[in-house]
Amino acid sequence: MTDQTVPLFDTLVIIGPGLIGSSILRRGMDDRRIARRLVACDISPEVRARVAELGIADVVETDPATAARDADCVIICVPVGAIAMVAAQVMPVMKKGAILSEVGSVKVTVMEAMQPLLARYPDIAFVPAHPMAGTEFSGPDAGFATLFEDRWCLLTPPEHTPEPAITRITALWKMMGARVRCMSVDHHDRVCAIVSHLPHLLAFTICGTADDLADETRSEVLDFAASGFRDFTRIAASDPTMWRDIFLNNREALLDMLDRFIADAQEMGNAIRTGNEDVIVSRIQRGRAIRRSLIENRQA
Ligand code: NAP
Repeated sequence: MTDQTVPLFDTLVIIGPGLIGSSILRRGMDDRRIARRLVACDISPEVRARVAELGIADVVETDPATAARDADCVIICVPVGAIAMVAAQVMPVMKKGAILSEVGSVKVTVMEAMQPLLARYPDIAFVPAHPMAGTEFSGPDAGFATLFEDRWCLLTPPEHTPEPAITRITALWKMMGARVRCMSVDHHDRVCAIVSHLPHLLAFTICGTADDLADETRSEVLDFAASGFRDFTRIAASDPTMWRDIFLNNREALLDMLDRFIADAQEMGNAIRTGNEDVIVSRIQRGRAIRRSLIENRQA
């Protein structure tokens, strides 16, 4: 893809230019081999005004259907609970053969909600993607062009998706700097439940627990937050709407991982109670080994 003379897409539309959407736009602005024309569309007038001010799209549209009409590819970058609703707005007007993608953090419920639309508009190729990259910030100011560099992007195309559409979305994410892997929606949701959703659940919970113990801990939390707690507060600063949608849409996998975690935490608690040094040390060693392998894989 490096010596291509024709852009990968003529018109690429981003609906919801927040952290993820604006990062795609910024990369697209930096590398015009991605798309000749970049269009941004958002429900919020403030976001639209800011995107125009930042100059990270060639065109800013108010109406998703107007934005999508000439698109070769539309990527929906809104919270999980709104993805199918936005798809229902754009699919009726999209060109035959155009690609529809989305970047939601949960895939099973999105795919379920998309089924009737996919049946009604079989000429549109649906290639869901999930870039495993982000920060605790949201909105168009939070994005940056290198957000996806060296990160994984997981594709979960439904069966019978035309291969060329998967190839183009793969090429898009590689041009974003990401590594790409395809998997089923179920596998995706279980993997993300453990690597992302459970850690966020723990972070939100531990901050609440510390706050509930305010008399004993709050001043200490604020004074001494340089310890492990600080990392939890960074994660816990994430957007409430986005995380509400993720938790409710990945309910089963997340609750399953939570049960396993509680059992493992209780085992660690018992080891501490009974002074079982072997169990304690082996748990800590496993944690260290995982951290080392993340660093080696440039994912830390
Ligand atoms: P974000 O910064 O909050 O951006 C979402 C944007 O979508 C906001 O500008 C929002 O406007 C807009 N929006 C909401 N509903 C809309 C609608 N119906 N039509 C048009 N625009 C709408 O969120 P984000 O962090 O980029 O996340 C976007 C998606 O990426 C989510 O599905 C999330 O699960 C997924 N994701 C996030 C991360 C991460 O770490 N943040 C990582 C990977 C994937 P308002 O602000 O006015 O609501």
